[in-house]
Amino acid sequence: MKTIEHWINGAATPANSTRTAPVYDPATGARQADVLLAEAADVDSAVAAASKAFVAWSDSSLSQRVKVMFAFRELLVKHEDELARIISSEHGKVIDDARGEIVRGREIVEYACGIADALKGDFSDQVSRGVDVHNFRQPLGVCAGITPFNFPIMVPLWMHPIAIATGNTFVLKPSERDPSASAFVAELYAEAGLPDGVFNVVNGDKVAVDAILDHPDIEAVSFVGSTPIAKYVHERATASGKRVQALGGAKNHAVVLPDADLEYAANHLTAAAFGSAGQRCMAVSVGVAVGPAGDALVEVLARKAREVKVGPGSDVSNDMGPLVTDAARQRVVDAVATGAEQGATVVVDGRDLTVAGHEDGFFAGPSLLDHVTTDMKAYTEEIFGPVLSIVRADTLDEAIEIINDNPYGNGTALFTSSGEAARRFQRQVRVGMIGVNVPIPVPMSYYSFGGWKDSLIGDSPIHGAEGVRFYTRPKVVTTRWPETDGHTAAFNFPTSN
Ligand code: NAD
Repeated sequence: MKTIEHWINGAATPANSTRTAPVYDPATGARQADVLLAEAADVDSAVAAASKAFVAWSDSSLSQRVKVMFAFRELLVKHEDELARIISSEHGKVIDDARGEIVRGREIVEYACGIADALKGDFSDQVSRGVDVHNFRQPLGVCAGITPFNFPIMVPLWMHPIAIATGNTFVLKPSERDPSASAFVAELYAEAGLPDGVFNVVNGDKVAVDAILDHPDIEAVSFVGSTPIAKYVHERATASGKRVQALGGAKNHAVVLPDADLEYAANHLTAAAFGSAGQRCMAVSVGVAVGPAGDALVEVLARKAREVKVGPGSDVSNDMGPLVTDAARQRVVDAVATGAEQGATVVVDGRDLTVAGHEDGFFAGPSLLDHVTTDMKAYTEEIFGPVLSIVRADTLDEAIEIINDNPYGNGTALFTSSGEAARRFQRQVRVGMIGVNVPIPVPMSYYSFGGWKDSLIGDSPIHGAEGVRFYTRPKVVTTRWPETDGHTAAFNFPTSN
């Protein structure tokens, strides 16, 4: 059985402990590898390597950092096929979907290639006679990232390219369910010329996470995952004096107005609800059908949900792969059962799906629940699987109220042909990322990603300008070069003249 090791100081590194976790092939249900689970001592080793590397890396020129980022970007392009296969084999998503996350992650590297521009400071000439002021930003030190299973390459790429390009060093703790993509990225960084110790990977579970959160030599923690863990990470890491960005779970609503093109809306809702087996933080899990849109929409959605082709992610003709683990599959089965018990109409039932030749895979087909109400578990819980719940509303205002009452506020979408409705929606809805006739409005790399309410704990979204701000701190310098001797220093507080 293959063992997936840590990557510390430029090399694959065995652990201090012998604890491991199984890594499955979700399409077959077979255990395909074991991943080492770090002890605090492994985190210490990675942080020590990163602290040592910080001295030279933070002093490296912008051109050197940018050169590494360009080389890293080229390697991500060159190895896209291999990387997509690695992701698909541990996560289960269809290879083309894995390619999609590589491309969206690579866009952050492209943003980091332009870091010199993002780091430019301001200069004010002659703020007082003979006095100038300028500012600039400096890296923090060792930064850490803790990431979820559902985007094993894209979510870490939201973090480390910006942290590294701004002069920090990095320790990544990826999900223990699909860790191989991070090991591969470490090798690509080394090939791109990144000095040893600048990027490190520590595999593990809560033990490793806690060691990161408490570590006195880690300056900042970036977390993406479920809301309870985001809250925990935020509280514990801020208590130990760190900067924290903590992105949590979601329940994303797509509102369909009667004036929308229903075929278009249903097509996009189907892909957004069932793509990646619903395991996306921006997946649409609730459709809010307004007024007379309801019955017609459900009819089209049911047809499209039944047409979704489910099978192993290695076959690109499939639309949707398995769930990541058997426990995740069981959660989906239970959610549909509870929905039915609580009075939802099960229009399409994906619970009993089996895929020929992959009977032990963690598959569940698309499920469509209609007449879901906001007190049902299918609505209140993040199922994180291929289940689309339809809630009925009479008006757009009622739909907005439903969304605003939901504790999550990651993404939302409106399908309409009315500009007035779209404008009202985007201004009134309490959600961080909004799509108008766009079901999964993931911002481009040069904007920042982040939800509201329980989808983002604290106040720091991720990547783009917010990423640069998060991974650096400012200095403001006031300068005078006296032309002649003999100036006297004033004892009153300095003012300009
Ligand atoms: P998770 O919260 O279980 O795990 C995330 C990370 O936290 C992993 O690295 C894991 O090892 C660690 N972890 C898990 N339990 C822990 C504990 N008790 N103490 C300390 N660390 C712990 O999330 P997941 O199941 O891997 O991913 C799915 C979740 O992530 C969903 O809720 C999804 O909405 C969310 N997510 C959010 C975004 C976003 O941008 N807001 C993006 C992707 C995923």
